[in-house]
Amino acid sequence: MSGHQPDIAGLRRGLDQVDSGIVRLIAERRELIAAIAKVKEHGTSAIQDPERERRVLDAVTAEATAQGVSASLVRTIFRELISDSVTQQARHLNGDAGGQVRVAFQGAAHAYSDAAARKYLAGRGLDGDLTGYRTFREAADALLAGQADLAVLPIENTTAGSINEVYALLRSHELFIVGEETWKVDHCLAAAAEVPLSALRRILSHPQGLEQCSQFLQSLPGAVPTTFFDTAGAMQAVAGDRDPTVAAIASPEAAAAYGLVVLRHNISDTDDNYTRFVVLSTTPAVVDLRIPCKTSLILVTGHGQGDLLRCLEVLSGSGHSMTKLESRPRPGRPWEYMFFVDFEGNAADPRTASALDELRSAALFVKILGSYPAKALRAPARPGDVPSPPAEMLEAVAAAPRPAAARSRQYKLVDRAARQDDTVIRVGDVLVGGDGFVVMAGPCSVESDEQIAATAKFVRDQGAHVLRGGVFKPRTSPYSFQGLGWEGLDLLVTAGRESGLPVVTEVMAVDQVARMAAAADILQVGARNMQNFDLLRELGKVDRPVLLKRGLSSTIEEWLAAAEYVVTQGNQQVILCERGIRTFESATRNTLDLSAVAVVRERSHLPVIVDPSHGTGARRYVAPMAWAARAAGAHGLLIEVHPEPERALSDADQSLSFDEFAALMHRLAAVPSGAVPSGEL
Ligand code: PEP
Ligand code: MN
Repeated sequence: MSGHQPDIAGLRRGLDQVDSGIVRLIAERRELIAAIAKVKEHGTSAIQDPERERRVLDAVTAEATAQGVSASLVRTIFRELISDSVTQQARHLNGDAGGQVRVAFQGAAHAYSDAAARKYLAGRGLDGDLTGYRTFREAADALLAGQADLAVLPIENTTAGSINEVYALLRSHELFIVGEETWKVDHCLAAAAEVPLSALRRILSHPQGLEQCSQFLQSLPGAVPTTFFDTAGAMQAVAGDRDPTVAAIASPEAAAAYGLVVLRHNISDTDDNYTRFVVLSTTPAVVDLRIPCKTSLILVTGHGQGDLLRCLEVLSGSGHSMTKLESRPRPGRPWEYMFFVDFEGNAADPRTASALDELRSAALFVKILGSYPAKALRAPARPGDVPSPPAEMLEAVAAAPRPAAARSRQYKLVDRAARQDDTVIRVGDVLVGGDGFVVMAGPCSVESDEQIAATAKFVRDQGAHVLRGGVFKPRTSPYSFQGLGWEGLDLLVTAGRESGLPVVTEVMAVDQVARMAAAADILQVGARNMQNFDLLRELGKVDRPVLLKRGLSSTIEEWLAAAEYVVTQGNQQVILCERGIRTFESATRNTLDLSAVAVVRERSHLPVIVDPSHGTGARRYVAPMAWAARAAGAHGLLIEVHPEPERALSDADQSLSFDEFAALMHRLAAVPSGAVPSGEL
């Protein structure tokens, strides 16, 4: 081999070949989907199979990890591919013939609505003749006047909420929803020339664009946010004026189309910023029953007590799950409200049709906006579990009858007497509590990008469900490593996202809560803070699960009373964690009180997990105590794992190596869970 470097043109040619190979493979995948659609044509089963989708995503995630490719990138791509397959099969079942349609949208060319409309058409195999209008109203008017066959309008955004004007149009016109589409909004700031951000005086965008980037805009006090009829239109205007003190917010595609320079990418307040669009027609759609559908309607209830509840019971009683309920003022009737409801169901299904009839008689007014193939649905969550043990090992977990628990005076809401069923808490796509078993694993402290990324991948591959990592560390000595702070939080969150795991980290102070809650999936309260009542109250005000460790010298009653502090403020999502207490015993760092699991399950409905790492302080005791915790009925484990335990900056003695963690997980699967269903306790 010569030491000659290949030239960039040669490398790019190689890249082009790979790209066309990717497209070829997508085409091949679509052919297989077409064959599957043909087979399903004769069956009655639904075309969407969440279990199968999950297996596909898990398999490609594992493949990505094996190949050293970002799991989150691969999952994002495959979510789109799966969604395209479902659309492709739905199209086949519905006998859509393709063809040319005229589509109205709001905005200039390259607006998000334009992109979403093209995505919708591509999924349906339709060719579009797209026209942008200045306002939502004008786009709807074009449809009503027969100048367009469809209109594609945004209805809600995951950051900024509902788009009232579009709801108003749906209410007051004969318009039907025949489809929906989602689009991941990726705002950038662009100007006519490369200028420092401090030179900007005005920033143009659609009000929604400005709202979705409000945190970024606050960092530019010298620039006045200025509303414009559309995001892409704002880019067009900046390109026309060429005033270097004016910039616009829209998609990078719009910036490129109008020849602007991107000054800053990814400026939305949140990473996961999606807009949901509705596809409107003047006639309702009839959708094959095997296609997963949503139905939308407007509801006005009577003004008596329980009137809304009666309407909602019609839906839940007939097995329809609601995906959205929004109340809006009734025009011209101060302090009266109407409701916009979306639920999973198809008006062509007799079961749904009869529920709608019943709803009509329970309400004052119902307007069915349409049944249409569902796109925007939250992924179903599953109970965390490790592979189940051989059946013969599952016998003989005798359930003792539950004694009538004496009610405590220290707490009411977390008392088992207040709620018979176990509390089940959703973390990412995993459920904590009930019959599930969740493993949270990772280093005591986040130390570096490499350390946390390698640990995340490893524990995920071994079946862990949540990634742990401390960034603010409550150390006994002020001279010990105190954690990487906010920088560590970024590393933890990135590692979690890359490996597809939600993250848990400790919050030490009241003023950290809001920022932590925005980034972490579970907020941990350390043993030393169990009775920091200000912190507990603050955590009660955020909508994030809290992992509450038992204090070093706290009784179970004190621990449950501490949980009550969180719950009384409104946040019911508390996971208790037994981590060992101080006793006279000095052979272990703490005395792991496994009996607390049985006691807590009797006295409270909250989930309880066990931390055998801090509970014993010595790595050789961690696995046996983990197995015992599962047998005792814990809902999960919190375990410290480090790529090089002996070099860990904190808790080196109790951190497991990768091999030790793998061995723990392997045997764990053979331990029958002692989690007796709550009714049998
Ligand atoms: C931890 O989990 O990192 C920790 C500090 O635990 P504890 O609060 O139980 O000591
Ligand atoms: Mn630790």
